[in-house]
Amino acid sequence: MKDSTRRIFIIRAAAGGSAILGLSELARAAPPRVEESDETAQALGYKHDTNKVDNKRYPKHSPTQRCTNCSFWQGSATDEWGGCAMFGRKQIAGPGWCNAWAAKSA
Ligand code: SF4
Repeated sequence: MKDSTRRIFIIRAAAGGSAILGLSELARAAPPRVEESDETAQALGYKHDTNKVDNKRYPKHSPTQRCTNCSFWQGSATDEWGGCAMFGRKQIAGPGWCNAWAAKSA
């Protein structure tokens, strides 16, 4: 391999590695958000907004129940989006709710 060819190969390899690293950082930085139409969300009656829950279908629901005060919430009390054990890698809305809601212990 000629010196100039080798130099080009090394530059392209470095650029490709950086692009892959950049994509993996992007994936880590922005986990996908759950859609209300997702299968798990439908099964659990999940809504992004606790005020939009069908109280006839879920009579135990109260508007004071929201993801941020649920024991499964994986975020701070002020986060708009966070993790939940029910939804794997997908993020859920802090003001949301689903039928698995359980009061966070004090
Ligand atoms: Fe929100 Fe709790 Fe349901 Fe997770 S389990 S979606 S934190 S209400």
